[in-house]
Amino acid sequence: MSVQHVDVLWQQRAACRGPNHDIFFPPSQMERRSEKRLRERRAKEICSSCPVLADCRTYALQIREQHGIWGGLTEGERRLVGGW
Ligand code: SF4
Repeated sequence: MSVQHVDVLWQQRAACRGPNHDIFFPPSQMERRSEKRLRERRAKEICSSCPVLADCRTYALQIREQHGIWGGLTEGERRLVGGW
């Protein structure tokens, strides 16, 4: 059996660490389309100045992360970029 090593040390420098982390994922209750757009825009603004954006995006594409904003991309955007 082989174990794939994935370096996640970059997460320690993530701009989304802390109280704003919730806006990167859908809430547990119903979210209106306009609320989703606003939440995703706010998350992407944080990503735009994140020092580890490239590492985060590469990681999310590598593991085919299905939920949330990662590396400045939504789930749908990651599927397009990753071709999956
Ligand atoms: S790019 Fe965005 S989601 Fe990724 S670590 Fe930075 S702030 Fe968080």
